[in-house]
Amino acid sequence: MSWESLNEIEIYCKENGCEFWQAILTGDVRENETTEEASRKKMAAAWEAMLSASEDYNPENFSASGLVGDDGEKMRAHAESGRGLLGGFAGEVMTEALKMGECNACMKRIVAAPTAGACGVLPSVLIPLSRRGVSEGDILNAMYVAAGIGQVIAERAYIAGASGGCQAEIGTAAAMTAGALVYIKGGSTDMIVNSVAMALKNMMGLVCDPVAGLVEVPCVKRNVAGAMTALSSADMALAGITSRIPADEVIDAMKEVGDKMHPDFKETARGGVANTKTGIRLKEEILGVKM
Ligand code: SF4
Repeated sequence: MSWESLNEIEIYCKENGCEFWQAILTGDVRENETTEEASRKKMAAAWEAMLSASEDYNPENFSASGLVGDDGEKMRAHAESGRGLLGGFAGEVMTEALKMGECNACMKRIVAAPTAGACGVLPSVLIPLSRRGVSEGDILNAMYVAAGIGQVIAERAYIAGASGGCQAEIGTAAAMTAGALVYIKGGSTDMIVNSVAMALKNMMGLVCDPVAGLVEVPCVKRNVAGAMTALSSADMALAGITSRIPADEVIDAMKEVGDKMHPDFKETARGGVANTKTGIRLKEEILGVKM
């Protein structure tokens, strides 16, 4: 069962008296001719992989280019010192986002949600929430919410930087994570959908400009930006704030922006920070070529 719009999911939930995550689980069971138990087992394996990546993080490991490595540890120390501007929970979220992005750059096992470049956004909120007592059952339900949102965005627009810029990658991850957060905090289906609209709007136009074509700079730190956008969008939705533009129309607008985006800003490493003086110098040093 493939979902073409968030509105379709909302209608399904109303007609069947179910929650957002249940609609996505039911859709997965029907589409993949599986059982609820098998589907949840698969989701639990993804959750385990997220936890393992976080636990196995080693700040002494740097990517092959040497561009990224120990920022997760720096953030952890700062957050735990109590000097962080945003407080404990946000500090943990930032730490996890950096750690996961660095693990990806170091070729460790991560969960693409929706892509490897954006792998830090969703676990960055789920891991601190599980530490605070959110049950595994609720974490898995939230992951179904995130998966449904990602599926609709992939269906109506795209989720890859090479197709639509970083708005499609980190933007989608932020939207998925916002919805997951709203679910965990007891928000309604309507609030979940509004959080998606706000997260995606706030990431719209973001270009994909990886230095030397590596998913490292600016990618790792953009996971933090995506996580912060998810937190603020979820909180706005939970406060009863709504998006004036419906979520499905925001997704379509993101596609329009992506379609009109110059190819230099779609993972070609020819624009944005990749094309700065320093970005070009780093590329020359890493690849050993003169540009
Ligand atoms: S800049 Fe490009 S490669 Fe990096 S996270 Fe964004 S979309 Fe992915």
